[in-house]
Amino acid sequence: MSASVAISGVSKSYQKGVPVLLPLDLEIQRGELFFLLGPSGCGKSTLLRILAGIVEPDSGSILFDGKDITSLPPEKRQAAMVFQNYALWPHLSVFENVAFGLRAAGAAKKVIEKKVGEALALVRMSDFAERKVPSLSGGQQQRVALARAIAVDPQVLLLDEPLSNLDAKLRDEMRCEIARICRERSLTAIYVTHDRREALSMGDRIALLNQGKIQQIGSPVELYKKPRTRFAASFLGDVNLLDGVVEEHGKEFLRIRTEIGVLLSSHIEKTDAPSVLIRPENIRISASPSQENCFEAEYLSGTFLGERCELKFRTETGRILDVNEDSSELREAGKKYFLSVLPQNVVPLED
Ligand code: ADP
Ligand code: MG
Repeated sequence: MSASVAISGVSKSYQKGVPVLLPLDLEIQRGELFFLLGPSGCGKSTLLRILAGIVEPDSGSILFDGKDITSLPPEKRQAAMVFQNYALWPHLSVFENVAFGLRAAGAAKKVIEKKVGEALALVRMSDFAERKVPSLSGGQQQRVALARAIAVDPQVLLLDEPLSNLDAKLRDEMRCEIARICRERSLTAIYVTHDRREALSMGDRIALLNQGKIQQIGSPVELYKKPRTRFAASFLGDVNLLDGVVEEHGKEFLRIRTEIGVLLSSHIEKTDAPSVLIRPENIRISASPSQENCFEAEYLSGTFLGERCELKFRTETGRILDVNEDSSELREAGKKYFLSVLPQNVVPLED
């Protein structure tokens, strides 16, 4: 049965005076697909290992369904882990790999057969039960690793960069698969990645980590559309970050003076805007001026990337802006255009 997870005040340093995790709190709901997203070295794996019981925290407590498991050893926690490198036994068959945890727990033969069969069906690997691991592709091995974790009916499924060793196409496919499996089984899953695309496309919620601290927690859309800081804005997607000062706090709009001129923002819940985010895909290009948030700019250059073009413009104030558009219209360097952005896409940041 899936459990809720409550982490409070958990901290860790491996060396004295070098904190890897500062005391942090997190609540993960039962059945949630929750992401820990952040750059390499920010402490994601450390937190996951603390949840698994492989690493001991310096402080704090962990509750599964309200029960304190902080001092329980890994095998008593009912948390199953899936690793980047699969960690399968090469000399055992697929069936025996998936059965491993159940055998270790002393399950009866019938139970093992049933649970392994169900887990292999769930990951669509039933036909491979008798195969040896080295004869499988990377994607298939990852499916087996997932089946092994699920077969023990864990309260919490922990995934540490499970798709990092797969090529791009397979990674996309496995993203959908893992999300499907977690939802079909209503698994509480905590998924660690540095890949924002994985977190944005799969997660119910994301905690963004940097330097051992939670920067922001929210749904993928919240994090992408309303990042609080420059770091969050940049980590979640492409950005134009402009210095800003709020000139007027109106009923409908904030008037913000920026490096490219005065912009209206509809985010009136904010009082301050030392900087402002405009995502490159939110800038419209036209030949004639529109009403609000419109400014003239010179087209400099563009890169065709297939699904979109990345263009560079220079505003009259000399600021270079990135603009993404989905057409591959040829533009002439040096030509003037009007750029505009909707007030809801002018996002004030805290820093
Ligand atoms: P992430 O998974 O986000 O890349 P980690 O949790 O693996 O980050 O590591 C966070 C920091 O802790 C890194 O600076 C790493 O070098 C350090 N670290 C991780 N594991 C150990 C360990 N067993 N002993 C000493 N330092 C470690
Ligand atoms: Mg890691």
